[in-house]
Amino acid sequence: MSHHSAEKVEPAVVVKSLEESLVSFQKDFPLEAFAKGNYGQHPVITLLTCSDSRMPVNIFGEIFNRIFSVENIGNQVKTNEGSILYGLLHLQTPLMIVAGHTDCGAIKAAESNFLEEPIGIRTELSIVKNSLDEGRLESGLVFDSQDKQLYYSELAELNVDMQIKYLLANRAVADLVDKKELMLLGVMADLHNVYGNGYGALYTSNVNGECKKSVLQSSGSLGFLADRVKRLR
Ligand SMILES: [Zn+2]
Repeated sequence: MSHHSAEKVEPAVVVKSLEESLVSFQKDFPLEAFAKGNYGQHPVITLLTCSDSRMPVNIFGEIFNRIFSVENIGNQVKTNEGSILYGLLHLQTPLMIVAGHTDCGAIKAAESNFLEEPIGIRTELSIVKNSLDEGRLESGLVFDSQDKQLYYSELAELNVDMQIKYLLANRAVADLVDKKELMLLGVMADLHNVYGNGYGALYTSNVNGECKKSVLQSSGSLGFLADRVKRLR
């Protein structure tokens, strides 16, 4: 795993920085809407995204009572399958987003020798590695780009495809998709302008297992996201 060289910050300094957020959360607490929904949770999005701090959940808008968020290294279904199924089958969110990104440390680590890592990290990286190995095998694609940034981004894209495939392998999930009560949306956040249309751009890469660009671009249900269809592979 890569270690980030940044200025050292004392824990107490970070604790202090929380104060403002806590105060404004309470001050701006959306009590009216919350009471209207019987103080329960009514999310419309189940999100599976990488824990990477450059992938903030609020890319997708308001979080409170709207996004049921599952985050792990390398955005893996199998690492938190129960949490994801809870969002889809019990909370019944109509949209599931699987979000990958460029320069994913988990993808890079899964492609390296990670045997020296603690068992917990090894376990989760093995899950990432399996997704990539299965993806390579099933797609028949050869990933041999010499540009490392491009190489890892292509794998991150493949990884998103695999997660959607794993979700569709669940019969109950596939039924919801068939009935059009659920859409599985795969996206790639281009934090490093690898796709060439700017830093921070978000691209549609997979919908319900479909990753053919021409099909996605002509999909009526995608709305503005049809114009954001872009794949490296
Ligand atoms: Zn990542």
